[in-house]
Amino acid sequence: MTKLKAQPTASHFINGEFVEDKNGAVIECIYPATGEIIAQLHSATPSIIEKAVSAAVAGQKIWARMSGTERGRVLRRAADMIRDRNQALSALETLDTGKPMQETLVADATSGADALEYFGGLAATINGEHIDLGGDFVYTRREPLGVCVGIGAWNYPTQIACWKGAPALACGNAMIFKPSETTPLCALEVAKILHEAGLPAGVYNVVQGYGDVGAALTTHDDVDKVSLTGSVPTGKKVMAAAAAGIRHVTMELGGKSPIIVFEDADIDDAIGGALLGNFYSSGQVCSNGTRVFVHSSRMAEFLEKLTARTQAITIGDPANEATQMGPVVSAAQRDKVMDYVAIGKAEGARLVTGGNTLRIEGMENGFFVEPTVFADVTDTMRIAKEEIFGPVMSVLSFDEEDDVVARANDTEFGLSAGIFTKDLTRAHRVIAELKAGSCWINTYNLAPVEAPFGGYKRSGVGRENSRAALEYYSQIKSVYVASGPVDCPY
Ligand code: NAD
Repeated sequence: MTKLKAQPTASHFINGEFVEDKNGAVIECIYPATGEIIAQLHSATPSIIEKAVSAAVAGQKIWARMSGTERGRVLRRAADMIRDRNQALSALETLDTGKPMQETLVADATSGADALEYFGGLAATINGEHIDLGGDFVYTRREPLGVCVGIGAWNYPTQIACWKGAPALACGNAMIFKPSETTPLCALEVAKILHEAGLPAGVYNVVQGYGDVGAALTTHDDVDKVSLTGSVPTGKKVMAAAAAGIRHVTMELGGKSPIIVFEDADIDDAIGGALLGNFYSSGQVCSNGTRVFVHSSRMAEFLEKLTARTQAITIGDPANEATQMGPVVSAAQRDKVMDYVAIGKAEGARLVTGGNTLRIEGMENGFFVEPTVFADVTDTMRIAKEEIFGPVMSVLSFDEEDDVVARANDTEFGLSAGIFTKDLTRAHRVIAELKAGSCWINTYNLAPVEAPFGGYKRSGVGRENSRAALEYYSQIKSVYVASGPVDCPY
């Protein structure tokens, strides 16, 4: 990082250009590693929201008239441009979120580019079907929904902007994306690149704002769909507001996912999965496996090796590519994590390692928290039930398969689950029993664009990525075509 300033040209990107309205409430963008203000933006005013919606309505008409091949070409060009600019985009993602460059260089802009490339490739294949009725026939058209609103969380600002934008645009919709107020910078770059790649003005817009801006977009008459990535409480509000206008929704919400380590597991792999599923992005990943169930016969070995590997994690300056873990995203998030550490101790969980904030030399005002492991955790403890969204792993013990499956499923969430075992039949039997949308066998947290991603139960509605996402950004028109006279009895 050469200089700690990341002021964008303006707060919003509407109708193909940067737009400002300083009457909107101030949004301060803080670099989590130092606590410095690196940019100041403004939340959207009602006139900015209207401008974005009318631009999207007009842009969508032009975009939907283009062929899938033409639309796909724009998305794939944008994917290439993102890859070409990966270094700069990763540096911006690091400033926006505090995640280390070691991660952002491989997991953020690149993942966004994958989505644009994948859905760019699919755009020309989004077709209806022909249904023969022996003379008469029906054909279907797979048509766009219209104007889609995307509302983002703060943990993956570039990725979320692309994961929502790519399938929406491939299907011929326009998008208005509202980033999280905590990480407002990266989506503006995505919008800029899409337009440089040839996207017609108005097809992908970014408006900044707090929850009230998200709410205003969700209830706007000209909006046809809302896709939220956020917490369950926000999901309930957004879904209820969308329901008032019978709008389509996709909900990518939180989790408290289980990882089950059976007695025959490769213990080093299982620890690798648990570390990835708890400490990547400082634990701020929705699909994290924060309840790690370990067979009692392997517990001592698991905890010993886990502790050694946890204590060896390099924490510090996110700009240094040797750094493996940066700060959490904000002071509020740090305080929330530390509250849960105190709750875990008070509930009687055994703190195995971590549990403190960290003072990094030269970054004394950063929001650093040690990767933390609690053992002897029981199912009823709050640290085993509530989403912490920080680097806090709960390790629980089990003996029987049936029992651990029931305990793993005993949660309001259902985003993800992972198991580690060498027993092929058990692997598939247990995965089939787990009530979660995104599951892994002998690995954890890989989310390639080719695979559907999304949650069961309170963790979500709909799916992102893969062909499945197209279902959630399009609608089917059925057209009956007569081949003879109208058979009318009157
Ligand atoms: P959040 O729910 O606080 O906010 C998410 C977004 O919703 C923000 O942009 C916010 O401004 C907006 N918002 C708030 N109130 C609103 C309202 N009434 N109407 C419309 N929009 C509103 O979530 P967060 O703290 O930014 O992110 C963390 C949460 O996101 C965690 O629960 C995490 O699990 C979840 N998450 C889920 C996924 C997934 O794909 N399932 C991915 C990343 C994060």
